[in-house]
Amino acid sequence: MKTYRGSCHCATVVFEIDTDLKTLAMCNCSICRRRNAVMARVAAQRFRLVAGQDALTLYQFNTRTAKHYFCRHCGIYPFHRPRVAPDAYAVNVFCLDGLSAEEIARLPVRRFDGRSFSSVE
Ligand SMILES: [Zn+2]
Repeated sequence: MKTYRGSCHCATVVFEIDTDLKTLAMCNCSICRRRNAVMARVAAQRFRLVAGQDALTLYQFNTRTAKHYFCRHCGIYPFHRPRVAPDAYAVNVFCLDGLSAEEIARLPVRRFDGRSFSSVE
């Protein structure tokens, strides 16, 4: 298992995850499709917030179960706590260092039908 470090655009929010990055996920729910996120899910014990706790702004909607975080300085979405797995973290793989867009494109992507799961739409 590798350790990846990630950050928001202004580098105020910095985090680390331990993962093999075997499968990524995309979701078609109302927020994921707007932020066009490609995500990697890790268990909470494999996620560490290194810096930027004070810069994280929490956004919630609908059932208010999921916790969507973004940096209040640069607006980037670095990670969230998913509604389907509140004990896990889903991170924005494009925030990870040392992982090119080409490498990301080669990884299998699981499509999650969050739109049907939503109780709003
Ligand atoms: Zn930032």
